[in-house]
Amino acid sequence: MEPSILIVDDDPGIRSSMSDFIEFAGYRSLKAEGAYEAIELLKNNHIDVVVTDIMMPGMNGLELTDIIKKDYDSEVIVITGYSGDFSYVDAIGKGASDFIFKPFRLEELLLRLKRVLRERQFAKERYLMLGKLEKLAITDSLTNLYNSRYFHSQLELETDRASRYKRPLSILFMDIDHFKEYNDTYGHLEGDKALLRIGQVISSCLRIMDSAHRYGGEEFTVLLPETTGRKALSVAKRIRIATENQVFNPVPGKPVSLSVSIGVTQYCNNEDVTAFVQRADKAMYQSKQKGRNRVTSIFIKESVKAKDKKC
Ligand code: GH3
Ligand code: MG
Ligand code: MG
Repeated sequence: MEPSILIVDDDPGIRSSMSDFIEFAGYRSLKAEGAYEAIELLKNNHIDVVVTDIMMPGMNGLELTDIIKKDYDSEVIVITGYSGDFSYVDAIGKGASDFIFKPFRLEELLLRLKRVLRERQFAKERYLMLGKLEKLAITDSLTNLYNSRYFHSQLELETDRASRYKRPLSILFMDIDHFKEYNDTYGHLEGDKALLRIGQVISSCLRIMDSAHRYGGEEFTVLLPETTGRKALSVAKRIRIATENQVFNPVPGKPVSLSVSIGVTQYCNNEDVTAFVQRADKAMYQSKQKGRNRVTSIFIKESVKAKDKKC
């Protein structure tokens, strides 16, 4: 779609000649005789650039620029015939992208318009690229879950929050059972596919506020804010059963299954973050020792006596 330009000028002659020229150059143009009409048009239309006169009855062009930059996603070019009253610095300070003195040739306006539109496009692409890079930096490329770097930053944030507001926080630590054997039997590529699927299974068992991370190799962690250890235990149980029920077909016609061993624990206010994660890891290890494909919880009040439960 062609860019939309809004012309704001109280002089109908200037307004029309600018609008005709801009349309002739291939843009969509809208017109307003003052700032209030311009704001109404901004509310109901997508506008890329507003070209506004400064001296207008009612609200002036700089006040309009202020509102546009606060409330709308449009660029602004200001035009003035009173260079002594308003400076380039005033206009740029309000967030305008360019400034033109009257009298000006319409070709000059067009050149400035093109430059502002080009910069707007670059800024948009940069913004999208930054968003992608940010996502890439916290995502595990194989499973699409969060990576371990993000896990550690979230862990800091969530433990801080839990301590400050005295809210429950739990963690699951899980490891795929006999995964080396699966890899050795069916190959690394099939192993990768299984990791991706198990990642999806874990995600499907979580609420929006929970986050699943690939901790390393075939190990995953889940952070469960606002969740007691007891509730976390039932999430872990859901994940264990959902994984067990998956059918993998690394060789056509020979379905196989996989399982996970899970450790669960709840955070104790102000405890060391490492101790919290190590407790979950220890609970997971106990699941392994007791035969795998099970969930074990260690809660601090009964930290000596670990509770082992095949859910
Ligand atoms: P356990 O039940 O005790 O956990 O046994 P295990 O075989 O799962 O554990 P072990 O630590 O001996 O082996 C983990 C295996 O996970 C080794 C490696 O082949 C596999 N693995 C780790 N990362 C990846 C990966 O990114 N892709 C694939 N395909 N395999 C991986
Ligand atoms: Mg492991
Ligand atoms: Mg394993």
